Amino acid sequence: MPPSPALESIFMADAPATAPATYTLYEARKKIQPSSVRGTFRSIKWAILVVTLAIYYLLPFVRWTRGPHEPSQAVLVDLAHGRFYFFFIELWPQEVYYITGLLILAAFTLFLMNAIAGRIWCGYLCPQTVWTDLFLAVERLVEGDRRDRLKLDAAPWSATKLCKRVAKHSIWLLIAWWTGGAWVLYFADAPTLVRDLATLQAPMVAYASIGILTFTTYSLAGLMREQVCKFMCPWPRIQGAFTDEHSLAITYRFDRGEPRGSAKKNAALKAKGLPAGDCVDCLQCVTACPAGIDIRQGLQMECTQCGLCADACDGVMTKLGLPTGLIAYDTDANAARRLRGEPPVSRVIRVRTVLYGVLIAGVGLAMLTALALRTFTGLSALHDRNPIFVTLADGSIRNGYTLRVLNKRPVERVFTLSLDGLPGARLELATEPGESDRPAVTVGPDTTHELRALVFAPAGAKLDKSTTVTFRIVDVASGEAAQAEDYFKAP
Ligand code: SF4
Ligand code: SF4
Repeated sequence: MPPSPALESIFMADAPATAPATYTLYEARKKIQPSSVRGTFRSIKWAILVVTLAIYYLLPFVRWTRGPHEPSQAVLVDLAHGRFYFFFIELWPQEVYYITGLLILAAFTLFLMNAIAGRIWCGYLCPQTVWTDLFLAVERLVEGDRRDRLKLDAAPWSATKLCKRVAKHSIWLLIAWWTGGAWVLYFADAPTLVRDLATLQAPMVAYASIGILTFTTYSLAGLMREQVCKFMCPWPRIQGAFTDEHSLAITYRFDRGEPRGSAKKNAALKAKGLPAGDCVDCLQCVTACPAGIDIRQGLQMECTQCGLCADACDGVMTKLGLPTGLIAYDTDANAARRLRGEPPVSRVIRVRTVLYGVLIAGVGLAMLTALALRTFTGLSALHDRNPIFVTLADGSIRNGYTLRVLNKRPVERVFTLSLDGLPGARLELATEPGESDRPAVTVGPDTTHELRALVFAPAGAKLDKSTTVTFRIVDVASGEAAQAEDYFKAP
């Protein structure tokens, strides 16, 4: 995100002259070899990496008891039976709107995060960031830190270089393979699928999915890295619309850092009372940046705001005995206030953050209410298309329907079926014959049951061409009911 024009003019007045930017339609990738850093933001990133990857890889093995007829996997997308299980929640295909609600909730949460603290999603939580961090850690482990890797890149091929490259790519492929493997475990009983995969008895689609995900993880996190954020992801281009001058962003404090110069030169200038900034131009912030940019040129689209340049700079400042925070999370508003000699302000509560908060609360509340009021019984009715009605030999009129009874509970249930809206009519189940005006229907646990229903209007009954009728089912044990409307057609 570029700095606002007003702020840019303030900052750039003190900033060193830079060459005018040139743009080309195609740019070959410049390999970036970021150096390792220690610090607050790096520690936060490690913690998030461990927690999110542990959840991703282990969640399919978490068990959740639902009853004898239900799967015991806590999180499961059961495509074969059209069910989604999430701990105590079980969603049917008709309830896909919960997923829509979740996506809307996620979008508003992302907007709120952006309005408060810029691209923290990109810098800390995005899967691309997390896996790239993991792949970088492996690279560092095998090939060493930035300087060693640069040397290795420049060195001619040798047995050592070959061994290191093979080791790195093998570990990357192993992680990518396990990432794909963990993904398919969300679609079947995990322990069973692991056994079937190992004994080559799993379905072909599982192997194909693992193969595709191995390839995408390896190429996106291992080979393409920052290219994904820079060229493939639309979010860097959109996210600026959700920020304003009070949104936090990793910022180089020009007012403190400039004019930059070597530590010795700046110390000498300061001793003479001449203007000198705290930036010693050591480039540690640039070499630490996984996007390969110089934050001192202002906020740029490539910056994921991971904070690693701030950690690198804090390390330099600490060594020099200067206060940390030359690069830090800051707002445009506070940067401008500092230049005017005013104290910083924190304005987390603003119109846009309140609006996003209200939208999140509204959607969340609506989803919770819908979940709390969710019924476990359902009925749908579908009138025969042809014939619409049949006039029988005794003069009575017959209409046919296909009914579907939904039992969302994990136990077998018995329902009575009845018809309203057509006085004197008789209801008969072709699939469950019996002499009753309220036939009983047994539906297995967590399943649907299709019925063929026939409705007879007696001869001589006064009928409109179309009369609204209501089918109703009632659970014999609990009294839970559901109904479906349709029409009775007559000549
Ligand atoms: S400039 Fe700093 S915050 Fe931005 S991507 Fe680079 S290291 Fe991360
Ligand atoms: S790490 Fe800090 S001192 Fe070094 S170049 Fe970057 S901003 Fe300047």
